[in-house]
Amino acid sequence: MSKDVKSYHNYKEDNKETYLDVVKRWKEHVSDMYKNTKDDVRIQRWSYSNGMFKYLNNYGGNITDNNPYINFIDLDEFNLLVKNLPLPSDPPAFNNKNRPNFFGTMMDDYIDDVAEYKHHLHTSFERIRREATTNEVPKPSENKNKDLKKLKQDIIKLAKEFGFVSIGVTKVDRRFISAETDDEIAFDTMIILGYEIPKEVMQRYPEPKHATAAYYGYSHCAKYVNQVADFIRGQGYDCRARCWEGFIKYPIHAVNAGMGNFTTYGICHTPEVGTRLKYTSILIDAEIELDKPKDFNIEEFCSRCRMCQKSCPENAIPKDEKRYMGTMRRATDHIKCFNSMAMRHECVQCIRVCPISMIGYETVKKSLPMYYQYNLVRDDFVDDKRYFENT
Ligand code: SF4
Ligand code: SF4
Repeated sequence: MSKDVKSYHNYKEDNKETYLDVVKRWKEHVSDMYKNTKDDVRIQRWSYSNGMFKYLNNYGGNITDNNPYINFIDLDEFNLLVKNLPLPSDPPAFNNKNRPNFFGTMMDDYIDDVAEYKHHLHTSFERIRREATTNEVPKPSENKNKDLKKLKQDIIKLAKEFGFVSIGVTKVDRRFISAETDDEIAFDTMIILGYEIPKEVMQRYPEPKHATAAYYGYSHCAKYVNQVADFIRGQGYDCRARCWEGFIKYPIHAVNAGMGNFTTYGICHTPEVGTRLKYTSILIDAEIELDKPKDFNIEEFCSRCRMCQKSCPENAIPKDEKRYMGTMRRATDHIKCFNSMAMRHECVQCIRVCPISMIGYETVKKSLPMYYQYNLVRDDFVDDKRYFENT
């Protein structure tokens, strides 16, 4: 294992915790977290400080984004008092300061090619941090590709070659950017890239020997995102690759970019692979065309399914959506979810049982009665005489 890989996880070989050690620490602290924040109600602003979700004051009235698809939201409505999740500080098992942590330990125990995974995560992370926080950013080519339509097509083509199956472009919505990351968001236009986790990897759950699904996705996002960014610079445009980590709330941006719709467990279902993917992104200094949100009729199917909600081992998934930070959406209880992550090496039960993610959207959507497929084939309805003849 290289020195770089070790430093990413701060390994101290003589003081290395085992998986059971971190599980024990998790159990010791989680009840304290609930106790300490039992009555904590405050206005929320998304934050990802120290590798975990926290909430700061919501300065929603000062949002500066100019996303054409979200500006209709009434800012008074957005300034909601929302019950805080019980996360006053990082759960120790996930705390960056307490490495070797759970994830590092989990990877050591379960992944055959762990050194390669960590290498990609480390080298990509270092480069992204350097470009986000210093002037050490590669200069774009002086030969600008002025055809922005072609530029977008070429970016998508290259990203697909690397394995990003779902790609969309939207404006940054700063309500869903970690508060301490605001200054790093150099450009308002964001290309979101979703990397597929193969079915074979997912099918290993709940025995994730040889590869954990999450780290398969994260390490491949890490491996390729800078290569897409280099291509964009070669086309004459400045850009910044962003991490696959949680500083940007990707699901809400992905839905906004027309990549899919919210699932019952609150993340974005794509027609390509459902939720069997991990996201990363690139902020680009070019006015490439934005993608519009689309209705894939996924809620219609989810409302009849709810397999994820019924099978979640921690009851972390609510059955119904609620108003959350100004939008109607679903919010999985993170603390319960991480509890399952900590106790089971990895939890992807909600994806593993999901028909859209595992069987495929094209097959699943046909299982709906024709009447309920109305928004799927709306464009076809005008000319599809067979539909009217059959109904
Ligand atoms: S398991 Fe069913 S309800 Fe849950 S996200 Fe998948 S399709 Fe929707
Ligand atoms: S990852 Fe596991 S615990 Fe978390 S929401 Fe999905 S099924 Fe529930």
